[in-house]
Amino acid sequence: MTSRGEDQQAAREARLDELHDKLTTAVDQLVSGEDWKRALAFAANFRSRSFNNTLLIWAQHAAAFERGLVPEPTPSYVAGYKQWQGLGRQVQKGQPGYQIIAPVTGRFASASPQDAESWRRLGKFEKPRPGETVRSKMVGVRPAYVWDASQTAGDDIPEPPRPHLLEGEAPAGLWEGLAAQVKAARFTLAEAASASEIHGANGVTDYLAHTVTVRADMDAAARVKTLAHELGHVLMHGPDNQEARQHRGIGEVEAESVALMVGAAHGMDTTSYTIPYVSTWAAQVEGREPAEVVKATGERVRSVALKILDQLDTTQVGNGTPPGLERDTPAREATRQTFAADRPAPARREPVLAEARSL
Ligand SMILES: [Zn+2]
Repeated sequence: MTSRGEDQQAAREARLDELHDKLTTAVDQLVSGEDWKRALAFAANFRSRSFNNTLLIWAQHAAAFERGLVPEPTPSYVAGYKQWQGLGRQVQKGQPGYQIIAPVTGRFASASPQDAESWRRLGKFEKPRPGETVRSKMVGVRPAYVWDASQTAGDDIPEPPRPHLLEGEAPAGLWEGLAAQVKAARFTLAEAASASEIHGANGVTDYLAHTVTVRADMDAAARVKTLAHELGHVLMHGPDNQEARQHRGIGEVEAESVALMVGAAHGMDTTSYTIPYVSTWAAQVEGREPAEVVKATGERVRSVALKILDQLDTTQVGNGTPPGLERDTPAREATRQTFAADRPAPARREPVLAEARSL
């Protein structure tokens, strides 16, 4: 490589690094914003439920959907009648509650807690004797009823900003170039008529079947952005990548960051989709700040993006800063072991629901 070539290469890397820094900053701004905090505070009102109850809720919600009682096939926020009232919302007339199993607890008291025989159950209003230790214990179950948010009306439900599907044309030749790389990685490219065919996602990479599927019913810009995202998964997140397996959020952050870079190199601004998408998935990684999660992926993302860009014969933005991430941006697939579905993170859903979805 000539020194001029090396300079150019260094300049490209610097541009991608800069782009990634801006993404990190934008994610940080979004997750520290008021909308995000309100959405989190609201979500904190919903506890996760047992696996059995989650399945009960899902089955009954699906039945309600089939009867035309709820607009979405999958449940969102689910709570009891009085809890909804406490949140400023009322269950609407004619909406059936979903029956779940609630634990019944009793209060027990003992003067010598070490002795298992010494515990006695307290009556409803009975107070323990002085010096006694009191503990609650599950003594049985009873049926309880819960309703999905879509069965209630009242105060607004604060939601984190959502990714917006890109609109318009795709850069010339980009789809073909990315498709060739998917094929070169020995994956078959397929189309899904709509999101409902692929678990509500825009695209899916199946590492076992070796297929990449992209929704057909989106604008070309959204389709090509999705293809770049799935190619990112193909190149980075096979079954051997333990980190991405354990933290789906990291895999999604990486794939979408690659899509951002590939898009930007072609003058395509993907930020209205990428920033909320990356933010919600980064926020799913426990124990780390979202911006920190994004920042840590920088090197990997840059090298994969460069690899993809190097193999394209498209016209790429040669100089200057790529668009996107320039203005102040106001701004959630395991999936089984085998596939990664490209859709917003289940931030507003209970964690168990994400599991149940892949059953
Ligand atoms: Zn994905």
